[in-house]
Amino acid sequence: MKTTKPHVALLASPGMGHVIPVLELGKRLVVYHEFQVTIFVVATDAATVESQLRNLPNPNLFNVVSLPPVDISGVVDPAASIVTKIIVMMRESLPALRSAISAMSLRPTALIVDLFGSEAMVIADELKMLKYVFIASNAWFLSATTYFPTIDKQLEEEHINQQKPLMIPGCKPVPFEDTLEAFLDPKDQVYVEYLRLGLEIPKADGVLINTWEDLETATLAAMRDTTSLGRVTKVPVYPIGPLVRQVTPPALEDSVLGWLDKQPTESVIYVSFGSGGTLSSKQMIELAWGLEQSQQRFVWVVRPPMDNDASGTFFEVGNGSDGTPNYLPDGFLTRNSEKGLVVQKWAPQAELLAHPSMGGFLSHCGWNSTMESILNGVPMIAWPLYAEQKMNATMLTEELGVAVRSKELPTTERIVEREEIETMVRRIIVDKEGHGMRSRVKKLKHSAEKATSIVGSSYDSLSKVAKDCEIGLLSHMSKALG
Ligand code: UDP
Repeated sequence: MKTTKPHVALLASPGMGHVIPVLELGKRLVVYHEFQVTIFVVATDAATVESQLRNLPNPNLFNVVSLPPVDISGVVDPAASIVTKIIVMMRESLPALRSAISAMSLRPTALIVDLFGSEAMVIADELKMLKYVFIASNAWFLSATTYFPTIDKQLEEEHINQQKPLMIPGCKPVPFEDTLEAFLDPKDQVYVEYLRLGLEIPKADGVLINTWEDLETATLAAMRDTTSLGRVTKVPVYPIGPLVRQVTPPALEDSVLGWLDKQPTESVIYVSFGSGGTLSSKQMIELAWGLEQSQQRFVWVVRPPMDNDASGTFFEVGNGSDGTPNYLPDGFLTRNSEKGLVVQKWAPQAELLAHPSMGGFLSHCGWNSTMESILNGVPMIAWPLYAEQKMNATMLTEELGVAVRSKELPTTERIVEREEIETMVRRIIVDKEGHGMRSRVKKLKHSAEKATSIVGSSYDSLSKVAKDCEIGLLSHMSKALG
């Protein structure tokens, strides 16, 4: 047991896709490196954060501090993108974060902020702390984000107007169809914010990424290549993933898990669009019919449709006489009572994906969902909606060969029709093609497990960061002693 453990502060931005991996990172710093950890959350949905905290094997592992809610109504256009709103929320939370850290009797040695909290690194500078950015996504996304500010007007014109791929030195180009919404409109606030992020991230002492060496070997090599003229980032990168919440047996009997227990091995398709993804009303109807027509078993986490915002918030709607929500086809629950389950809004995803009867995941390809699917050896139907999800879908289908994807790029205007959904489900669950994907995803699962084991590359990467924090602590202590 060490006598003096470094204290590290982590800052998570709103949204379970950010909070969950930050909690997991905090847990690893405590369990593997015996650090003291304080996690600051800028929560919009305290109830969901608390439910995640309850899921931790030991909720007292670290200190979780909820920063006071901020009112951004006067500082951001109500029509701004969700990313802009998150960034502004993080900005408005800085004074509370500064006061909270300054008031700590044991001052943290390092501040680890997630992508949208990168402005908080000034606080680390003021308080003489090490500063790291944590990317809850992959290295390819990081390369695009940090390279973006360096592209000149001509490349911008080629990417935005001529729709040519974004060429990143040493990395896969980002096809126009997959590009981030943030890169497309120089007049939008989110574009300006992304330029700033791209410039700010390389000022960190290091960037921790939720990926692993063997998953993105070439991209990581390009990011470290000091000889490359267009080197995409001049900051040490630490692939420390996959960070995925470890599942714990539910304290109470869970009806969905109970139902899964009765289904054959690898026979069920799980359908979910992350913590906030929504479909249009027409698309919900097609998806319902596609699942039904596939005649395969399914668990579908539904939330009310939104007709013009794929990252929408939720509104309440009524139910039909058999309990079918009225945005699904009449009698859907009755007709599918043997084969499928519909869960409203939120399900214990990590636990469900870990169940042996899971055979596929129709997913919006959020990076946490992607990691959870890989770590459970579950092939995917890629259905990206927003953010870097289209890049993730391309990686899964074209590079890793563990997912199928619709020919249509679903948008609020273009829908994927029921026949194609039926075919995609059968390709994953029934067809030989699905077996091939399952065996490839199982190989990735083993590679991921090896990376995070104590002899693995991700463990080693996090150990290097931990070592730097320990050296930082020693230097603080020696300065304090004069
Ligand atoms: N999640 C969950 N239950 C749900 C929906 C989401 O537990 O019903 C979890 C999921 O397991 C993942 C996170 O929320 O860990 C979503 O993160 P992701 O990056 O996949 O997508 P985002 O929500 O950020 O779009």
